[in-house]
Amino acid sequence: MKDTYCPYCGELQDINHDDGYGYGEDEIFNQECSNCGKIFTFTTSVLFIYDTAKASCLNGGKHKFELTHTYPKKYSKMRCEMCGEERQPTTEERIKYKLDEEVQNA
Ligand SMILES: [Zn+2]
Ligand SMILES: [Zn+2]
Repeated sequence: MKDTYCPYCGELQDINHDDGYGYGEDEIFNQECSNCGKIFTFTTSVLFIYDTAKASCLNGGKHKFELTHTYPKKYSKMRCEMCGEERQPTTEERIKYKLDEEVQNA
């Protein structure tokens, strides 16, 4: 993955984070351009990306439970696809999803 550009020649650069180097905020780091060989400095900003979604279940609506894909199947849970809340499957759901039927090896 290419991270940034050399300020001298414009070539894409991979910032070298070996041993955790270059992650401190408010610090100036340096690296040699792999293309033109000049030393440039960089600072790091940690960017948080948030992905929001409506969750009607947290606003008075019902959870939308879906079966998790767990192996063995009998340990599957029901997880709300909107808020992530989990609960044990009901008896009816255990039957519906065949959670207690063991796969028999011939
Ligand atoms: Zn360069
Ligand atoms: Zn929910």
